[in-house]
Amino acid sequence: MSNSFDIIVIGGGIAGLTAGREAAKLGRSTLVLTGNTLGGHLLSIESVENWPAQPEGIPGYDLCPIAQEEAADAGAQFEMIEADSLTPEGDRWSVSAGGSKYAAGALILATGTSLKKLGVLGEESYEGRGVSHCASCDAPMLRGKDVVVVGGGDSALQETLALLGPAAKITVVTEGGGLAAQPHFVEQVTSSPKVSIKTGMRVTEILGNEGVTGVKLSDGSELPCASVFVFPGLTAQAGLAEGLATLDSAGAIQADASMRTSARGLFAAGTVRSGSIFRAAASAEEGATAARAAHGYLLDGTWPPAAI
Ligand SMILES: Cc1cc2nc3c(=O)[nH]c(=O)nc-3n(C[C@H](O)[C@H](O)[C@H](O)COP(=O)(O)OP(=O)(O)OC[C@H]3O[C@@H](n4cnc5c(N)ncnc54)[C@H](O)[C@@H]3O)c2cc1C
Repeated sequence: MSNSFDIIVIGGGIAGLTAGREAAKLGRSTLVLTGNTLGGHLLSIESVENWPAQPEGIPGYDLCPIAQEEAADAGAQFEMIEADSLTPEGDRWSVSAGGSKYAAGALILATGTSLKKLGVLGEESYEGRGVSHCASCDAPMLRGKDVVVVGGGDSALQETLALLGPAAKITVVTEGGGLAAQPHFVEQVTSSPKVSIKTGMRVTEILGNEGVTGVKLSDGSELPCASVFVFPGLTAQAGLAEGLATLDSAGAIQADASMRTSARGLFAAGTVRSGSIFRAAASAEEGATAARAAHGYLLDGTWPPAAI
């Protein structure tokens, strides 16, 4: 495989997969560097809501392979490796990834977000032994067990809903004064007799022996549980753009309506972009927009002088 492309997409979530499909359909030689998670956050979601024409939701593990297949059928190539650094070289870009170097005329950064950590004792040592970030993956093992979900936003409540069937009792612990999720999530969660909500409370330690046995809360109490699902929020994975493009105060990449960043030939799409609305369909749309804008840039070589 040649290491030189028209467009390199960095990120294998729905934004990156759609950017890869669109760029390849436009006839551009396209490489998608997916990192470890081909499919990104959606891959582990039982029911992706707000996806057009899917009123019952669609499983993310069905949606992502279809998106990848579409991109591959259009001619995009894939490498399941992480990009380590980006370097502008004249009017092209060089990307180091997994010990190799790749070159392209335009880059689309679609590296998404990572889940924030709690930063408490036990969080790292019990990762994979009761500390989890995927309710649909772990649900079969939690039949009849008590679990804790940390966070009060959309992702925390969506995971709570995925646990409603198997778990005996779910305690949602959130630092905020209330639940900050879409009303229909709040309605479903709060109307279940299996769920209790603790607001204004933090998990200060995750307890266990072989695996998780409970959590300690900021009021000093202990809550026994078999598993803790950690969803306190998301943070943009924009490290690759640091020093190259303008980031906002939260560390997300600023881009205009065509997904152009402040760096020539560098585009950003999906939830890594400042102002993302955190909807899968919007991320997909941004990926397609970025690919079209990158194609246009490669055709005429002009870059807007306007400050972003
Ligand atoms: C629990 C949860 C539930 C959600 N439910 C819904 C829902 O029901 N409906 C909805 O519309 N939205 C939902 N969302 C939001 C949705 O997941 C996002 O809008 C969407 O996944 C964003 O896609 P993305 O491609 O921008 O980023 P991500 O999905 O975060 O993908 C990022 C990709 O970048 C890759 N990557 C990262 N760093 C590198 C690197 N250095 N090199 C190469 N690749 C890299 C990763 O491997 C990954 O493939 C949910 C999110 C969460 C966390």
